[in-house]
Amino acid sequence: MRSHNDSPEAVELAERAHELMEEVVLPTERELAGGTPVSERAIAELREAARDYGVYAPQIDEEHGGMGYDFRDVLPTFEEAGRSFLGQAAMRVDAPDEGNMHLLELHGTELQKQEYLEPLVAGDIVSGFAMTEPIQGGGSDPKMLQTTAEKDGDDWVVNGHKWWTTNGIRADILLVFARTDPEAHPYEGCSVFLVPSAADGVEVVRNIPHMGPAMDHHGHAEIKLDDVRVPEEHLLGEEGEGFAHVQERLGPARLTHCMRYSGMAQRSLDIAKAYMSEREAFGTPVAEKQGPRHEVAEHRTRLEAARALVRQAADRISAGDEARTDVSMAKVFTASVTEDAIDAAVQFCGGNGIAKDLPISDFYESVRQFRIIDGADEVHKRTIARDAFADVDPVELEPITRYGE
Ligand SMILES: Cc1cc2nc3c(=O)[nH]c(=O)nc-3n(C[C@H](O)[C@H](O)[C@H](O)COP(=O)(O)OP(=O)(O)OC[C@H]3O[C@@H](n4cnc5c(N)ncnc54)[C@H](O)[C@@H]3O)c2cc1C
Repeated sequence: MRSHNDSPEAVELAERAHELMEEVVLPTERELAGGTPVSERAIAELREAARDYGVYAPQIDEEHGGMGYDFRDVLPTFEEAGRSFLGQAAMRVDAPDEGNMHLLELHGTELQKQEYLEPLVAGDIVSGFAMTEPIQGGGSDPKMLQTTAEKDGDDWVVNGHKWWTTNGIRADILLVFARTDPEAHPYEGCSVFLVPSAADGVEVVRNIPHMGPAMDHHGHAEIKLDDVRVPEEHLLGEEGEGFAHVQERLGPARLTHCMRYSGMAQRSLDIAKAYMSEREAFGTPVAEKQGPRHEVAEHRTRLEAARALVRQAADRISAGDEARTDVSMAKVFTASVTEDAIDAAVQFCGGNGIAKDLPISDFYESVRQFRIIDGADEVHKRTIARDAFADVDPVELEPITRYGE
């Protein structure tokens, strides 16, 4: 899980996270497995434990209630936390709050930080990020965005229809992406607003039924915004800079997703190795047969390569680069690698891979979304290919002297 160039601080933090996982989170997961969504109370207790172990919100500045670790240094801890859905919630590195907190930290005013960032870090409130829209609106192509926000006196009036807003059914605050200048190109005419879910005109239409683990407490909502009025101070960041701000949120958030899913894949393989070592078939343990061993070797290698791509992209972000292509490469590759690894782990465990007795089946249901969320594979490949074709030299077509001529 650790990379050779992780700093001593990163390794130490991840070790504490590992202790929390082994001693508190995984036993709690065992108790709650198979049940309905995990209660807020259970999560609050896990967060208390994370504080005691010194691994609560490590990615957030100390002045806002976190631990002030560098983004690069929290990556191994994100992977550790990802070994269980409860680990992510316990350490307050869970999406989408984690990405929203990052955006508030980058662009929030002092008042916005006090009102929203600090309660979010403390776990007192929950947030959603509302960008994706139903079929005629913005999805893979966010330039198709339909939601608008118009200035009216000192207020903004937001109208639109969103779906797939994770946490939408339980969020206190929604970060709504809206068009503020219909004349401008969307890259220059969109902004982000902090919309309290209790505001008049916010209607949570439904929680979209979807595949995934029963213990998932987030939900993904369809939401209508009908003449929702928010004061000017609820504009997050600069007017018209929404796309740039969202990129700043999504870049690191895609990498943290990669690490959480790497944690799920690693745990799935670890469980599968233990199962195969005990389980005999045709006279020897399954783990001694060359086919599964080679497959484990293959998944281990690919997972290691995925981690390296994530760290490379993170290094570029830490150096102040947008790292868009690096992030896309890390995201597409990790989504494929983790999906394959978890699928293999299901197979290695036979019928038990499907059973809810093990967490692998939940991971299997969860990982499928990773090739779609935060940009479908095809959209990221478009970015990677655009970069690849950006500086193509003229073709060198020198006539060759044919043999014998
Ligand atoms: C579990 C889950 C949680 C989510 N959480 C959030 C959230 O919190 N907030 C939020 O705003 N959104 C959220 N989303 C939405 C998610 O970001 C979108 O689903 C994703 O960006 C794809 O958009 P879409 O669903 O509109 O797909 P569409 O735009 O309808 O695209 C459909 C398919 O077309 C293909 N495609 C698209 N472009 C190209 C291309 N250029 N070349 C080839 N093929 C292409 C891809 O295969 C794509 O999957 C969530 C989605 C899921 C499933």
